[in-house]
Amino acid sequence: MFRLKQSAVKPAFIVMFFLIITGAAYSVSGALSSRGPVNNSYSGKPAKYVFLFIGDGMGLPQVSSAEIFAGSMKGGKYPDAPRSLSFTSFGAQGITTTHDASSFITDSASSGTAIATGNKTLNGVISMDVAKKNKLKSIATMAKEKGMKVGIISSVSIDHATPAVFYSNVPSRKMMYEIGLQMFDSGFDYFAGGSVVDPDGKKSKMENKPGNLFDYAKNKGYKIVKSKSEFSRLKSGNGKVWAITEQVADDSAMLYEIDRSSSVLSLKDFTKKGIELLDNEKGFFMMVEGGKIDWACHANDGMSAIKDVYAFDDAVREAVAFAKNHPDETLIVVTGDHECGGMTVGFAGTKYDTFFQKLKKQNMSYIKFDETLDEIKKKNSELKFDEVVNLVSKHFGLNTDKNDKEMGLTDYEMQLLKDAFAQVNNKEKSDSLYLLYGEYNPLSVTVTHILNRKAGIGWTSYSHTGVPVPTYAKGTGEEIFDGYYDNTDIFKKLTAVMNLQ
Ligand SMILES: [Zn+2]
Repeated sequence: MFRLKQSAVKPAFIVMFFLIITGAAYSVSGALSSRGPVNNSYSGKPAKYVFLFIGDGMGLPQVSSAEIFAGSMKGGKYPDAPRSLSFTSFGAQGITTTHDASSFITDSASSGTAIATGNKTLNGVISMDVAKKNKLKSIATMAKEKGMKVGIISSVSIDHATPAVFYSNVPSRKMMYEIGLQMFDSGFDYFAGGSVVDPDGKKSKMENKPGNLFDYAKNKGYKIVKSKSEFSRLKSGNGKVWAITEQVADDSAMLYEIDRSSSVLSLKDFTKKGIELLDNEKGFFMMVEGGKIDWACHANDGMSAIKDVYAFDDAVREAVAFAKNHPDETLIVVTGDHECGGMTVGFAGTKYDTFFQKLKKQNMSYIKFDETLDEIKKKNSELKFDEVVNLVSKHFGLNTDKNDKEMGLTDYEMQLLKDAFAQVNNKEKSDSLYLLYGEYNPLSVTVTHILNRKAGIGWTSYSHTGVPVPTYAKGTGEEIFDGYYDNTDIFKKLTAVMNLQ
């Protein structure tokens, strides 16, 4: 519109222009000011057992996609297909805004800080204010001070932003070693899931480091459990525990659910054990993060994201089972910290249809596909295109049969693969390459794009997006989780129902 000549500017354009100008001046924090008051007060009996489940990167598209895939697999047409996720039928349902102190699009540090402490802060900041000077107390610390037991579980590394906001205060989420130290200083009763990224503080600028984090944890009285057999023997009364997945995967995380064999501990297993260890007279607060939903969405890998939503839901079901035996004293809240990937149900090529059943032949995550390609390169020193096409067929179900309307690669899709193949060894960075492949292996991101588009899933970004997310609640005080509110209100609602100050 700025290219229009003065004479072509019509009144309507002038109005639009002013709307845009005033919109730009509209502050992020003022975005909700025109809405009515949010009900964050509660006067009933406080909840004794509180579960907070955070699906990292889980917006409505991730939730819907998981349900649509389940429906497609049953041969049903959504919305006739039965609901597949436990939490979408919870009694209370809210819509939650996620902007942070300076951006409509939050990262997990600022959104986590909002949920854990009730305060807006900047991207990258872990439970400190916008000046990065004052520490903000988390709901987990408040619960611990009240005498409740506290558990923090994540499918990514346990020092990652979302778990970190509950037990540490640092100006940057990159201070992984410092976060690790504060984790064991917290005295929280149970940490479980992933490992830590920087155990020896190699990336830390801290002077006089107190040493390796595993040793530090032991000195602080933590029992570190790395094997499944030891894990299964854990009993309440064992003291403070840090349980780590036997198969530590990318960036010290648990495996993607799609890559996990049934013999490897799941997010559900860590949650179930957490309930067993934390159950006590004074109650508990447990935060469980489905962190790899987000990572799969950054990479635009729909099937891996959906499988991780299922793993997350399986963990929620453990809490629901516990609540059945503890009615009137348990609260379960399920939310997302932000959407990721700009995932949507619908793609230009599939118009009004979805074909989610096409995803079912994908049998590994994008990262395992990367590793598979790397192994071949190591063995043969050179990767051949035909070999890639065979692997794409074996692991994603796509084939070269043009008559196969379901899974056959079209000429256009084959060209996309060839273009990606040509870029595999290109280390150069450019805006156009970023738009095509993000910073991922060009082949794996192209394969998931092709498969997802065939299924009717679209992606707009390799980052987070600014749309609100759904929040679900069940149990004691659930009624105040209905409505449209901000992520800082989740803290206010939880502390009200738990009677924490
Ligand atoms: Zn993310």
